[in-house]
Amino acid sequence: WPSVHSGSSDSIRSSESSPDTGVYKVMLLGDSGVGKSTLAGIFGGVEDTFPHGSEHPEDTYERNLLVDGEKTTLIVYDIWEEAGSQSWMQDSCLQMGDAFLLIFSVTDRSTFQRLPSLLLQLRTARPHRHIPIILVGNKGDLVRSREVNMEEGRSLAGMLNCKYTEISAALHHNTHELLEGVVRQIRLRKDEGEH
Ligand code: GDP
Ligand code: MG
Repeated sequence: WPSVHSGSSDSIRSSESSPDTGVYKVMLLGDSGVGKSTLAGIFGGVEDTFPHGSEHPEDTYERNLLVDGEKTTLIVYDIWEEAGSQSWMQDSCLQMGDAFLLIFSVTDRSTFQRLPSLLLQLRTARPHRHIPIILVGNKGDLVRSREVNMEEGRSLAGMLNCKYTEISAALHHNTHELLEGVVRQIRLRKDEGEH
């Protein structure tokens, strides 16, 4: 747990990595229904959803990216919900990531309101690490059912000292930019010597 599902990359690696190898682990966090699996699926280039066998869940996506002329391997983990309410499993997710996307749906205010406590849990699990954390408002395409506006998202991110972005996983809008941004953030933190 978890298995690695190869995306556009040919190789399948073990999930062992360190920031120094250029292999970065990105953990998708957030409530059920906010679009984590849709985003992960885009990243893995997977159109169909796989039946989730309990032994080998297809919930981890690896891909090589060229960002600013430098090669990077990103592994995106969509395993947060599998942890359920088991705190040891949640904690192992939080220990594993090199960067975290805290995803909510702009059409569901309750998913937005969960972010501060989620972030507190993350910062408690990783107190000494200056890791990239990005708040991500998904479903930006659903204009009429929007419950959280962009200013609220930005302002919460500012208060929590995180980055903020909005995407539409359904339309693939801003999703590639988001993952490139994650890579840049990880590199910046590394260069600052904060790992
Ligand atoms: P998860 O529970 O966080 O993994 O969320 P899913 O990826 O399963 O998405 C939940 C539902 O929201 C699915 O029906 C998706 O098709 C839909 N969905 C996900 N992202 C978007 C989006 O950007 N726009 C719209 N309109 N629907 C989306
Ligand atoms: Mg899911």
